Amino acid sequence: MKTLRVLSEEKGKKLHLRFVGSIDEDAALDKVKVSTDKSLVMDMGEVDSINSCGGREWVKWIRTVETKQQVEFVNCSSVFLDYANMIEGFVPSNGVIESFNVPYYCEACDHLSLRIFQSRDIRDHKSQIPNSIPCDKCKNPAEVDVIVPVFLKFLKKDKGLT
Ligand SMILES: [Zn+2]
Repeated sequence: MKTLRVLSEEKGKKLHLRFVGSIDEDAALDKVKVSTDKSLVMDMGEVDSINSCGGREWVKWIRTVETKQQVEFVNCSSVFLDYANMIEGFVPSNGVIESFNVPYYCEACDHLSLRIFQSRDIRDHKSQIPNSIPCDKCKNPAEVDVIVPVFLKFLKKDKGLT
């Protein structure tokens, strides 16, 4: 478990926030003040775990984020999506999950491979989530490590993309 770090970087008209580590009781989210005229991009790809305490703190914190623009969530890890699917308000009403990682587990070498998908492509049926992919490490088939319809629940309530 790593203590959460939030790295921010301005890229043109967007403010990027990168979350690295665990969202848990030690994540000092209350110290992260966000107030901007720019649109926000939150990169959740390096969030490796969330616990219920951290999840509650997150919901409180996300409400304090001040922006009139849209909040894009990118590279969402499967733990982040589990919470986004489970908890109302985890992704704010002006938030959109743009892209997410799907984990694939290889039994042969115990390696987890990740594939990134764009929500829009899945919704528009331009791409599909395959049941298996070649393992990044040993090239044996790695099986999808989530229940896809449950995992994609957020697509239905994510109004921003329609
Ligand atoms: Zn493998």
